[in-house]
This record gives sequence, structure tokens and C-alpha cells, in this order.
Amino acid sequence: MDRFSSIKAFAFDIDGVLTDGSLLAMPDGDILRTFNTKDGFGIRTATDNGYPVAIITGGCSESIIHRCHSYGINTSDLFMLSKDKIADFLLFCERHSLKQEEVAYVGDDIPDIPVIKVAGLGVCPCDAVDEVKEIADFISPYPGGKGCVRDLIEKVLKPAGRWQFHPDKPWSGSFPENIVKFAGLTGRNI
Ligand SMILES: [Mg+2]
Repeated sequence: MDRFSSIKAFAFDIDGVLTDGSLLAMPDGDILRTFNTKDGFGIRTATDNGYPVAIITGGCSESIIHRCHSYGINTSDLFMLSKDKIADFLLFCERHSLKQEEVAYVGDDIPDIPVIKVAGLGVCPCDAVDEVKEIADFISPYPGGKGCVRDLIEKVLKPAGRWQFHPDKPWSGSFPENIVKFAGLTGRNI
């Protein structure tokens, strides 16, 4: 059994993975990012077909919450302002009764290395930093924000017969107002 066939869940960094790493710093302090819709469809297809998905990022933005909502990601599986990605990764595994060997993680930079090392499938985009590419199980042929997430999800779901489009499936999850207004609260895991 190869590493792709044993994967039951996914966890993703955002900057440099779901985006190309670019940030647009606004005068009011907000940070804007460009996401890839093909990656987004891939994540949505994974959640629609029963795969738990986590986002583990050092970033923090209301738009990240809305974007993850559109992916069908549970509020409790969105870890923002993550200072210790391995702790958040293990918490995600525990909550979903997953072994770390059953989870694929994609990251592109130094803070991702501990998670890439313990994940069942440690993946990086082809434009990750050299230190990450040296230890990754799989280097995607695609760069961050340009399809590396979509490619990984297809490689897992298609052989499993779970790459199924559910156009009528209702959007799961909703974020209450008090959760969306996160600033100044715990700062993570919201
Ligand atoms: Mg990153």
C-alpha cells in the first residue's frame, strides 16, 4: 500500500500552499490573499466525500474564516495564529480519531517541517524552501497557490473512488457572529 492510499484526512498550511505566498497589506492592517479556485474545488470535494480537512496557519484574517467555510471545513479544524503547528496537527488527529500516518500535510516553509516529518504523507509545493523539499515525502510538480493541493487531493480520492462531485450537497458549517468577530479573543483554533 503506497502512502497515498492510506490517507484519510488532509491538513494544509495557507501561505505558500493555498496561495503563492503573496500578501497584500492594506492600510487598515488587513491582509488580502489570492486563493486558487481549482484547489478550492478539490478541498470542497474532499470534505463533501467525508475527508476531514484542517487548516493550520500562522496567519489570521476574517477572510480566511469565510474561505474555509466555503471549503466545508469545520470551525474547530481551523487553526489560525498557530505558533506550534505540530500541537495543532496532533489535536486535529485526536479529535477525528486519526493516526498521524493517515493524514497528509502540505507545507512550504520552516514552521511546517515538524508536521511534514510526522504526517503519513508530508507534501510540499515545488517552490517550497530547500529545507522542506529535503525532508518531504512528495514534492508536488505544482507550486503553491497553483494547483499543488488539487493535485494531492486527486491523487488520494480518485484511486479510492471518492472523487465524486455532489452539486446538491448543502454547505456544511456556519460560523456564528461571535466566532467571526475573533479579534482579541483566543487568537487560535477558531
Ligand atoms: Mg507557508
